[in-house]
Amino acid sequence: MPSVYFQTFGCQMNSADSDEIRALLAERGFLPCGSPAESDLIVVNTCSVREAAERRARSRIAEFASAKRARAGQRLWVVGCMAERLGDKLKEEIPGVDLVIGAKRMERIGEAIEAHFPKGIDVGADTGGVAKIGISRHLPPIFSKTAVTDFVPVMRGCDNYCAYCIVPYVRGNERSVPYESVESAVKEKVDAGIKEITFLGQNVNSYNYNGIDFPELLSKIAETSGLARIRFTTSHPKDCTERLIEVIASSGKFASHTHLPVQAGSDRILSLMNRKYTASRYRCLLDMIRTRLPRADITSDIMVGFPTESDAEFRETLELLRAARFTTAFMFAYSKRAGTAAASMEEGISQAEKMARLTELITLQTEITREIYEKAVGEELEVLVTERQQKRDLAWMGQDAGCKRVLISC
Ligand code: SF4
Repeated sequence: MPSVYFQTFGCQMNSADSDEIRALLAERGFLPCGSPAESDLIVVNTCSVREAAERRARSRIAEFASAKRARAGQRLWVVGCMAERLGDKLKEEIPGVDLVIGAKRMERIGEAIEAHFPKGIDVGADTGGVAKIGISRHLPPIFSKTAVTDFVPVMRGCDNYCAYCIVPYVRGNERSVPYESVESAVKEKVDAGIKEITFLGQNVNSYNYNGIDFPELLSKIAETSGLARIRFTTSHPKDCTERLIEVIASSGKFASHTHLPVQAGSDRILSLMNRKYTASRYRCLLDMIRTRLPRADITSDIMVGFPTESDAEFRETLELLRAARFTTAFMFAYSKRAGTAAASMEEGISQAEKMARLTELITLQTEITREIYEKAVGEELEVLVTERQQKRDLAWMGQDAGCKRVLISC
């Protein structure tokens, strides 16, 4: 049987895309392989969000390309955002790369795979194995995220063009996955034992397929029998509406977790970032969520050191953080990304100052997170157990209805 090794960089969307490619290859007889040296095919799914992410992917691809000379017939595919940005130039840059599939082709990945490994055809000549047809589309636990949770992409691309972000350029404009495809993907996964689905998109709130918008999609999918919990990520604050919050509050099937990236607390910086909301509008949204979902975990993304951010403006971000009381947050320092609007802005902040701001931000958020977790001591939580932790005395790992990861020793 031919075998495939995956290396996936970046976000959950990339993980979902890798799962999709795995499933398509499994239908053609490919087995997963834990070692790149022993696999017939290596797939590297790349990220382009930061230059550092591209550097890491490039160096891994170069390693695979040089090692592949020792294994006759081995193939090396590069897919995802960096593949979109660089295209076939990657093949010239790193000899040994056989195929480049960009992120914009991901919805039609089935066609690309069919072109290389047609279903029902013996792929032994290429890979040293024999294709077997008829393997279930839903993968056994060895392939999927866990045995009980899985992702379903509902949106691809982004129209928002935040000044610092490369995503709209590499993933293209927003496209909503047809409702019927979302519904059948959910049913198929639930029939195979999945209990929790996470809907994915760069901006899930702007889902709209033939008049079915995101709140309606959620209401319809919540009717799926056997589905215990629904999550989604990521939401753009400008598209987070009262109706959406009402839908989430109306059914026990939705996780009480909202990830709502704020990025900054200063209106001038938010405007420079092209985020299309103000700090006070963001705070109104938080009030609305907390009124309808008092126990919700709210998490966020926050960036410090955006070009021209003054110390006073950074203090506005700290003030927003104190008021928002996020359960957790992804915090990072701005770094220039070629090809974005912000790349041509004069920064005016030293790297040392950015790091000092980041440290101050992380210290504050860590304290808030600690207080929130301490308040949960003694509470009873409903936890979906997801996986066994081999390295922690075989403890079980799970997640509550919010965003809290839970370790259960037994
Ligand atoms: S909403 Fe902004 S940050 Fe998010 S993917 Fe789109 S452009 Fe990037």
